[in-house]
Amino acid sequence: MSPQNVKDRVAWLQGTSARCEDVAANGLTPWRLVLLGAPGVGKGTQADLLNHRLGACHLSTGDVFRAAGSRRECEQSPAMREALGYMRRGALVPDSTVWEMVRERAGCLRCGGGFILDGFPRTLGQAESLKQLLDAERLALTAVVNYELPTSEIVARIGGRRTCEECKAVFHVTERPPKVADRCDHCDGKLFQREDDRPESIRVRLEAYDRSTAPLIDFYLKAGLLVRVAASGAPGEILDITLTDLKSRRAAQLAA
Ligand code: AMP
Repeated sequence: MSPQNVKDRVAWLQGTSARCEDVAANGLTPWRLVLLGAPGVGKGTQADLLNHRLGACHLSTGDVFRAAGSRRECEQSPAMREALGYMRRGALVPDSTVWEMVRERAGCLRCGGGFILDGFPRTLGQAESLKQLLDAERLALTAVVNYELPTSEIVARIGGRRTCEECKAVFHVTERPPKVADRCDHCDGKLFQREDDRPESIRVRLEAYDRSTAPLIDFYLKAGLLVRVAASGAPGEILDITLTDLKSRRAAQLAA
């Protein structure tokens, strides 16, 4: 792993007024990836691991909403307050609000360091908007990785997930327990269960996923971008499979 690959992502998390201190400029062809998969398959974990290995920033729309939610209410725009209401209920935020937020951050998609989109796009409308923006910028996705896992495993994974209040690191009560109960291994922050990780929200999120996000698999399959990865096993094993698939795909693209 190369810790220098972890970027501060302030332009993504805080919006246009913020500038990243540490934009990647390693001269290599950037990776531009989209990660798909139902909530709980481990996309966020894989995005972080891929970020360490490939250098591209982990851009999660859920992280932007959570960062906004931790600000004082008077600092949140009306659109953001409305978006947070949807999020708390476990429902998808409307496409227009999500797209407005991503468009404001288009600089992150143009960034020479590349990107790993996690949680976006989530609907066909969002995927089409993303395609138009990338086409206009003459940028192309390298691949779209779809992480696949049976529903029963997903429910067990999400229900046990705990997040650090301070640094947002994610643990799991049985699969990845913290060294001290309810405290973060990295910063000693208090661990909590995200509102949208509670059982009543999990059900709504899985239904929303099936309804809105599953059609994206077909969209990216037809575009010739889809890479399917079985998401059971240890995170390191899943990462290795993903990297092998991505690298052979890139080698084939370069050879074509
Ligand atoms: P995540 O961390 O990706 O699971 O996102 C947490 C919540 O943020 C979701 O359950 C939605 O309410 C909202 N959200 C994040 N990204 C999107 C998106 N692309 N479209 C709609 N809602 C989103």
